[in-house]
Amino acid sequence: MTESLPLAELLRALAPPLEYLAAEDFRRLERTRLPLPALADRVAQARAAGPPAAAAALEELEHILAALRRGATDEQEALLRRAHALLPALRAAATAPSAWTEYRAVGGPVEPALAALAQPVDVVRAVGPKRAADLARFRLRTVEDLLYHLPFRYEDRRALRPLAALVVGEEATAVGEVARVHEGRMGRRGRPVLEVVLRDADGMVVLVWFHQLTYFKRRLQVGQRLVVHGRVEAGLGGGARRIIHPDLELLAADEDPAARPGIVPVYEKPTEMHPGAMRRIVHAAVEASADRVPSTLPPAIAARQRVVDLPRALRHVHTPPAEADLQALGASQSLAHRSLIFDELFFLQLGLALRRSVIGREPGTAFPASTRLVPALRARLPFRPTGAQERAIGEIAADLAAPHPMRRLLQGDVGSGKTVVALAAALTVVEAGHQAAIMAPTELLAEQHFETVRPLAEPLAVETVLLTGAVKGRARRAALAGLADGSIPLAVGTHALIQETVQFARLGLAVVDEQHRFGVLQRAALQQRGMVDVLVMSATPIPRTLAMTLYGDLVVSTLDELPPGRTPITTELCRESRRERVYAQLREEVAAGHQAYIVYPLVEESEKTDLRAATTMVRELAAGPLAGLRLALVHGRMKADEKDGVMRAFKAAEHDVLVSTTVIEVGIDVPNATAIVIEHAERFGLAQLHQLRGRVGRGRAPGRCFLLVPDWTGDEAYQRLRTLTESTDGFRIAEVDLALRGPGDFLGTRQAGLPDFRVANLLRDTALLRAARDEAVAWLAEDPDLSRPESAAIRAVLAHRWQGRLGLAKVG
Ligand code: ADP
Ligand code: MG
Repeated sequence: MTESLPLAELLRALAPPLEYLAAEDFRRLERTRLPLPALADRVAQARAAGPPAAAAALEELEHILAALRRGATDEQEALLRRAHALLPALRAAATAPSAWTEYRAVGGPVEPALAALAQPVDVVRAVGPKRAADLARFRLRTVEDLLYHLPFRYEDRRALRPLAALVVGEEATAVGEVARVHEGRMGRRGRPVLEVVLRDADGMVVLVWFHQLTYFKRRLQVGQRLVVHGRVEAGLGGGARRIIHPDLELLAADEDPAARPGIVPVYEKPTEMHPGAMRRIVHAAVEASADRVPSTLPPAIAARQRVVDLPRALRHVHTPPAEADLQALGASQSLAHRSLIFDELFFLQLGLALRRSVIGREPGTAFPASTRLVPALRARLPFRPTGAQERAIGEIAADLAAPHPMRRLLQGDVGSGKTVVALAAALTVVEAGHQAAIMAPTELLAEQHFETVRPLAEPLAVETVLLTGAVKGRARRAALAGLADGSIPLAVGTHALIQETVQFARLGLAVVDEQHRFGVLQRAALQQRGMVDVLVMSATPIPRTLAMTLYGDLVVSTLDELPPGRTPITTELCRESRRERVYAQLREEVAAGHQAYIVYPLVEESEKTDLRAATTMVRELAAGPLAGLRLALVHGRMKADEKDGVMRAFKAAEHDVLVSTTVIEVGIDVPNATAIVIEHAERFGLAQLHQLRGRVGRGRAPGRCFLLVPDWTGDEAYQRLRTLTESTDGFRIAEVDLALRGPGDFLGTRQAGLPDFRVANLLRDTALLRAARDEAVAWLAEDPDLSRPESAAIRAVLAHRWQGRLGLAKVG
């Protein structure tokens, strides 16, 4: 817990030689040389940065070093003894959290303040009912929403420019006096326009409005002094320079413009609202309520993380003083920003950690390590598990053996071999006399799992049933009965297995294969089934930062190693004009007895046009470049069983080429398919493309992927796609994708269940995220259920922040 780095460094340099000398009672003085100049430097640095508690000791040390450097040999021993005696004080100062005076923690109960902050926006002075409705549509509903609606940029209005010195193309702030107000019409269509001439001692500029003419005409009388800010544009036909829709501040006759706020925040706002209006609303909220926002971090954490309290931080970001660091503000890196971000992430991580630990203490079944079925499975496998698989199997076995429910995520690229890991887990549970269910997102994927699992499980005398919507009649009744009376230990099916009314006699483990979907909701549904162990599998490698929040309530096992002997897929990026060449290569693959996919992106506007295009496409391909090949089509408007029918036929090699308008099932496994063409690759995310190309190269023959892009595809999009031609590492690709597109797009939709961040940004704030997690975990280690008095405020804020999100309410 080192508070002052320079002080710590000084101690590292100073303490060893002094202690060495002291151990020999300073007898080896002649043979020991201290690096005096370097030490003197460090003392100076420590004094500059130093905690106040060290000041006196450092000052004395400075005198001692100065005396030593003057070479007073006879005093040397006495000086060094004094220096040695200072060490304890320096150490204490270096390790004790010094009083951090910038964090004023709240005193007393916080509930009234939280209730006040939750009031609707119209309690704010500047907000009437109409405004309130506009803001609500903009997702600003409460006073607190306004307080945490941070500026997305800042304008520097500290320098006032003479009007004659305005430069076209630059943003500038200037002061002047209204010399003329003219309402006229402009252009051929006679668009109404308000032009206001602003003058100062030796220059002029024309302010232009196209909207709200009446309002501005009323406010801007001749003689009115103004501060204006905006982008300077060239005049029309060589006329005076103009600023269109400038930001305005009216000055009273005797008001000094230099005394106006110099750094002006700019807010995102509902479209119709004027920037100044939005600013006034937020500032009114800050004035009235910022001081009520309770700062509840434990003082030691606030001191260690060097954060300031929330009222101070909010005031700083909304109304920065003129001397503030504009650069840091703009980059969200000011102390105030850091403080708000840390606070947000701390409560996020606290909630996640709390949920992990609550589950970790919840009673569950302990399944001892398998001695029979898993060894038998190993003996039957045609391969040796990879190191990564072994690690995951071990981690899962440890979770299963614990008397608490497992909540683990197994992530690994397509083909990394998750199924065997899941099966080992299932067999462990079965051996202990319980049942296991393995679930996939679609019927076809469930069937596929079933085909993999049954041949491995049944020779071990573990009866396995498939239970999907397609299983009907007697087979269904038998399966349901067997699961209900416990005679069937292993079920494979869709997620409906667990969501609906299937009865299990002794369900011990649920394996949920989410593929590319992030089913936080599904996990919530699962948890309501009581405390079965849960293993979630995901084929989308998730960058660590994201996994930490998205799956923060799960512990993660990662398969970061592919089974040996895979030929990596080769990926080519082609412009459309070279399409013929791609078709030629497809024909070659088919001629060699293989199969291929052609994928079109889903065009969102109209599924009908989409379908027409695809049907036409198949016809054209059949008549032209792919004549003679057996083509099949799947599209989004087909019923699930129709789709499954086509895919099944493809799997049975009844078709050569599968044309698909929707994204083909990520998990579909047709080892004989060796080529995939992805049309309009520029419309997909990198992670998604990586998933798609994972459809090929699943058998012994090498896989090939062709990414087709329009000829006019820009350089940026082209470079982005190059990542795929250069790497087959899903984690790397996911990271590039995340960095390029941000978490929202990376995950596709809001259904990702990622909490909305008000101030934090997962890409930018990685370091704070880690710090917040470590502090949250450490705090819970001291006070596991937040029951101590010093956690009371934290608990209230936690409940307020999470408000039932991700089912945390249960905990609060
Ligand atoms: P995932 O579900 O992770 O995409 P699978 O479990 O479907 O991957 O495995 C992909 C293929 O690799 C399967 O055919 C499987 O039998 C095979 N496989 C799994 N583990 C290994 C291994 N250690 N060595 C060789 N082949 C393996
Ligand atoms: Mg799989």
